[in-house]
Amino acid sequence: MFDWLVVGAGFAGSVLAERIASQRGERVLVIDQRDHIAGNAFDHLDAAGVLIHRYGPHIFHTNSEQIFAHLSKFTAWRPYEHRVLAQVRSPTTGEDTLVPMPINLDTINRLYGLNLTEDEVEGWMAARAEQVPTVRTSEDVVVGKVGRELYELFFRGYTRKQWALDPSELDKSVTARVPTRTNRDDRYFTDRFQYMPAEGYTAMFRRMLDHPLITVRTGMEFSEARKRFSFRRLVWTGPVDEYFGFRFGKLPYRSLQFRHETLDREWALPTGTVNHPAESTPYTRVSEYKWMTGQSHPKTSITYEFPSAVGDPYYPIPRPENAALYKRYEALADAERDTWFVGRLATYRYYNMDQVVGQALATFERIQKGAPVAANDDARLKTASAGD
Ligand code: FAD
Ligand code: UDP
Repeated sequence: MFDWLVVGAGFAGSVLAERIASQRGERVLVIDQRDHIAGNAFDHLDAAGVLIHRYGPHIFHTNSEQIFAHLSKFTAWRPYEHRVLAQVRSPTTGEDTLVPMPINLDTINRLYGLNLTEDEVEGWMAARAEQVPTVRTSEDVVVGKVGRELYELFFRGYTRKQWALDPSELDKSVTARVPTRTNRDDRYFTDRFQYMPAEGYTAMFRRMLDHPLITVRTGMEFSEARKRFSFRRLVWTGPVDEYFGFRFGKLPYRSLQFRHETLDREWALPTGTVNHPAESTPYTRVSEYKWMTGQSHPKTSITYEFPSAVGDPYYPIPRPENAALYKRYEALADAERDTWFVGRLATYRYYNMDQVVGQALATFERIQKGAPVAANDDARLKTASAGD
């Protein structure tokens, strides 16, 4: 008998499980259908002994002191500022070249053989920018800032591969994640806190879940857990449409296939990630973990990301029709008794790790303020609708 069942051992589930056990003194069972904890942030030593991220490169960054302080209870940190180069064909020389991404002053100067200053590049961009009366889509965001040529070079192909949609079919929030800069700052993120967990993400999760009131079962699906265990309250961090038996139809998610390789040399890439925006290249980016982890090793491991329609649901797809369908599921979720929906899949939000931690901490506050556990809580076992 558990007080809580937490479905999913990623950030959403693990942060909540720890709070519930340590602050409420209640018994928590955390399950995950995968054979490991840490969700998509899972890292491990590969066959060569290089620390890799099974589900693609995860770089922690946040502006929230509260979120950073919370995770700092479970890990020490290694300062790391991620830098990305994009491989694009120069419009002036026609040759493939590696330039900073996000687009900055150096990107423009190198691509066009110019020597503009910060002030000058602003005018240069403004002269190329298209008039966009209302910025609505992911195309609008970029063409309205830097014009069509740079949009096509850096964003159009990458986005069409990543999402199987044209940027004009996606909310502006998608490409707006990547800024345009007129200075020479070549960091991918500008958040106040940019760190990697010193011993990796999985070690951090292990410490978070190491509590006498928390039981962890990996390799276990919800349908099995609800048969084998009784519990009074539920935290669901899987896809929200799955929980409700796809009642209103499937919510679209985008997936990726990862190709992990170990190379018999010390370094492979000039920086942590190289983006490949050209539509003719089937992958979107290649990343080398040693840049992020700081590990010393005579070999190196890299990961290629191939966007895919099939596979685990990694990305909610931000566009109006999907938001409308999610709203219908959200209404069901809000009405579900003693059940909390948290995380990227359960709330259908394109959230970074820190945002999921923030959402989990906010959910815990709501739980703390909420009504006491109802008298016949076991009824929830019968009313849980996932898998029905
Ligand atoms: P998840 O990590 O997906 O955890 C949910 C868990 O629930 C999964 O482990 C799943 O197996 C389990 N589950 C689902 N259904 C069931 C079921 N029925 N029964 C049992 N278990 C179930 N964020 C950043 O901040 N920085 C980055 O650099 C970054 N890079 C990323 C790169 C890639 C390729 C991807 C895909 C994401 C990246 N993210 C990054 C986002 C980050 O992965 C997410 O924000 C975070 O992992 C979400 O945590 P979560 O707990 O909501 O979901
Ligand atoms: N993007 C792009 N070209 C790039 C990098 C990003 O077109 O070189 C677009 C693309 O649509 C991508 C989105 O911007 O999905 C967000 O990029 P980000 O690097 O934040 O994606 P994530 O790390 O979440 O996969």
